[in-house]
Amino acid sequence: MAKYVGAHVSASGGVFNAPLNAMAIGAKAFALFTKNQKQWTAKPLDDETIGLFKENLAKSGILPKHVLPHDSYLINLGHPEEEKRQKSLEAFIDETRRCMQLGLDRLNFHPGSHLKQISEEECIDRIAASMNETLSLTEGVSLVIENTAGQGSNLGWKFEHLAAIIDRIEDKSRVGVCIDTCHMFTAGYDIRTREAYEATWEEFERVVGFKYLMGMHINDSKPDLGSRVDRHDSIGKGKLGIEPFRYIMNDPRMDDIPLVLETIDETIWAEEIKLLYGLQA
Ligand SMILES: [Zn+2]
Ligand SMILES: [Zn+2]
Repeated sequence: MAKYVGAHVSASGGVFNAPLNAMAIGAKAFALFTKNQKQWTAKPLDDETIGLFKENLAKSGILPKHVLPHDSYLINLGHPEEEKRQKSLEAFIDETRRCMQLGLDRLNFHPGSHLKQISEEECIDRIAASMNETLSLTEGVSLVIENTAGQGSNLGWKFEHLAAIIDRIEDKSRVGVCIDTCHMFTAGYDIRTREAYEATWEEFERVVGFKYLMGMHINDSKPDLGSRVDRHDSIGKGKLGIEPFRYIMNDPRMDDIPLVLETIDETIWAEEIKLLYGLQA
């Protein structure tokens, strides 16, 4: 079965180091930040950096579609204040362009927060407007909405939020979702037993649709089902346990997309990748 497992690797020293870091842990996929995720601006990618990234990616044997860049944590495309939404939008367009430059085809982001100042509906409108504007100014990169744990005023924890955003996107060929197993679980979607797993994904198919699934974050969870708290754990060591990951690794619906660890102990990522592949029947 075609599973592409990796981790969110470091790009420190330059984005071109990320494919090498992925190779070093036996990854067949990876995530990265294409700029410092805690800063608003970054210097543009120069030709040498871009060339080296592409060279190292080719060396790693990892395909561009199995790379899932993650945007900056500062960005809130649904910000209730117009000036701040604009600032986020500009940074987001820049992030999308960086993906284009690196030859990558998808960008993973957290949808946004209403900060208790506007309704969910209004926030969803703003997120979708920001995405439509980004799509109109770029090409070749799909915007991949991540489901959230629903901490604070973050939207995107319900499948219905993801569907409502997609519904408002003009070019549906360039929108996707990334499902984080920890977020899904703490948002209230159980996947711990075969029955729960099948029911949750049936709901996903009905509300969002597998055709939009462009990546997953593979994390165990420290908090319990429905706690709405975002805290990852190492695979098999949290409240999810090992079984859900066995189901995923044997589920053809998760073939050919990046499956990315964001677990808390990066020193065992290589082992976790082996463990996951070992779950395949
Ligand atoms: Zn995640
Ligand atoms: Zn998380």
